[in-house]
Amino acid sequence: MSGAFEPFRPPMVGAEMWQTAMAAAGWVCECTGQCGKTHAKTAGRCGVAHGSAHTLAVVAADPTVSLRAAVTGAELVALCAGCQSAIKRAATNAAEQAAAARADQLDLFDLIGGEAA
Ligand SMILES: [Zn+2]
Ligand SMILES: [Zn+2]
Repeated sequence: MSGAFEPFRPPMVGAEMWQTAMAAAGWVCECTGQCGKTHAKTAGRCGVAHGSAHTLAVVAADPTVSLRAAVTGAELVALCAGCQSAIKRAATNAAEQAAAARADQLDLFDLIGGEAA
């Protein structure tokens, strides 16, 4: 490698791991609808290729997994910026909804407990 081509990569994923994950992905975004789009035009897969116009990031397949877990053996996927942010947003929304549901249940529990006492 001459080093002339310096691919974009997030700092938390090592170059070797990045290379491996990208090669496995075929240097193409691996999103198959997780972002909320059907990607119908490209046979159900995003199809954005890594290059000068688009830079793909290697991230944990499960967006809720911690960064530490992501670099220590979690499944990694290559994603374009658009899919990555959409998937992360969807995961964040789901987590917030789950937290809100739990909070509602706790309120209800307090109410019932208070009346019973
Ligand atoms: Zn994509
Ligand atoms: Zn997508």
